[in-house]
Amino acid sequence: MSGRAGIVIVGASLAGLRGAEALRRGGYEGPLTLVGDEPYRPYDRPPLSKHVLAGELAADATALPQLLPLRARWRLGSPATGLDRNAKIVRLADGSSLAYDTLLVATGARARRWPGEAEFAGIFTIRGRDEAADLRAALARDPRSVLIVGGGLIGCEAASCCRDLGLPVTLVDPNPTPLARALGTLVGGTLAARMRAAGVDLRPGTQVRALEGEAGQVCRARLADGGSIAADLVIVALGAVRDTGWLSEGGLAADAGGLTCDGACRALTRMGVPDPNIFAAGDVARWPNPLYGGRLIAVEHWGNAVEQAAHAARNMLNPADPQPYAHLPAFWSSQFGLNIKMVGLADGADSVAIVQGSRAAGRFLAVYGREGRTIAAVSFDEARWLPAYAERIAAGAAFPPIHDATDQPAIETRPPGFPPPRPFPASRGRVPEAAHA
Ligand SMILES: Cc1cc2nc3c(=O)[nH]c(=O)nc-3n(C[C@H](O)[C@H](O)[C@H](O)COP(=O)(O)OP(=O)(O)OC[C@H]3O[C@@H](n4cnc5c(N)ncnc54)[C@H](O)[C@@H]3O)c2cc1C
Repeated sequence: MSGRAGIVIVGASLAGLRGAEALRRGGYEGPLTLVGDEPYRPYDRPPLSKHVLAGELAADATALPQLLPLRARWRLGSPATGLDRNAKIVRLADGSSLAYDTLLVATGARARRWPGEAEFAGIFTIRGRDEAADLRAALARDPRSVLIVGGGLIGCEAASCCRDLGLPVTLVDPNPTPLARALGTLVGGTLAARMRAAGVDLRPGTQVRALEGEAGQVCRARLADGGSIAADLVIVALGAVRDTGWLSEGGLAADAGGLTCDGACRALTRMGVPDPNIFAAGDVARWPNPLYGGRLIAVEHWGNAVEQAAHAARNMLNPADPQPYAHLPAFWSSQFGLNIKMVGLADGADSVAIVQGSRAAGRFLAVYGREGRTIAAVSFDEARWLPAYAERIAAGAAFPPIHDATDQPAIETRPPGFPPPRPFPASRGRVPEAAHA
């Protein structure tokens, strides 16, 4: 496959880079262009909310290794602003345009911002390298009190770093426990206890209504329950919004929840028809995952960006033989001295069981079931058996899948305690909560 214009990849980060590598590895010899709105070559985001905030790694030391020579043209620092599918052209902010034969959309997501964020100094989000560097510099100036808005993975990781730095931290989240949407409140309760033991002032079950400032500097948060919290540094960790704005006039099925694809990673038009020349991969893509009964899934996980980009590249090079993308979502997190690893999607689970270790000991493996099937597993410092559970989840095994191992505790199934789903922006299918929201 090599027309005159070649392949254009919009989004020069993890999925874009790994997609480009897979194209070259798959034998593509034609022109290849990567477009990125950031001025940097691809870098890794997971360290930003961990080692970079902790001051252990500089934000500019996070470059992703390039695994083979790409022979690509890099168009960095100028975002794509529009797509003309009839002319097969991507328009850039600098006024230029790029013709493509095949396009890979890998524009990921950006942090959801606090309305009016720019009004006061001291309000931060963490998505990109510059944001992490700015936040790290502010943390190093010893703020009197840090407020974290949102108890998802990034909010919890930030809280962990701040406590390691000895800073007073308050975390506010409307759910009963941190990570309630990803793990449920039973497992989330264990993390809450760990966070409190580490000195985090947890305020579950309420929301920040307003941020107030003095002399241009944030100084206070007003809560929905009538209370207020003094804070001169606020980290807004309210999840991410998919970067699909530039596709708005392209006639594709795209919104803040992602770009909808068919099972082979080909972008769907608003009429639900795949465009054979446009593919998507990584955080921006949502697709019918055969491992979840064809339900539309959008995940914000490092492993999916790598795997889906390689899969999309394979299908771009073999248009006559498109293969469905079946992926078992998986992520890891490190916080409060814990190594958390998860496989599968637990949302919608009706049962959870501790199948290794114990919550009291703080080391355990929990397995989630829905309607008698195993759908997800999470380990807190107990990942030894996780691959065995991943296999059972992929096979749709009965729940609980392993119950006679000699080193297991007595297995008791309990309700996992998931909060009711939040309303999500209109989309062409059910979009699960992002695991990093
Ligand atoms: C702070 C943080 C910590 C994380 N920790 C973990 C973790 O511990 N474990 C885990 O599994 N996952 C983690 N993740 C998630 C993981 O990093 C993402 O899933 C991964 O980065 C997705 O890669 P991507 O290439 O699809 O999207 P992104 O990394 O979001 O890259 C998209 C790129 O496209 C660019 N772009 C956007 N719009 C345009 C446009 N119009 N034109 C040109 N370029 C554009 C963006 O600037 C960006 O450079 C973390 C994410 C963050 C932010």
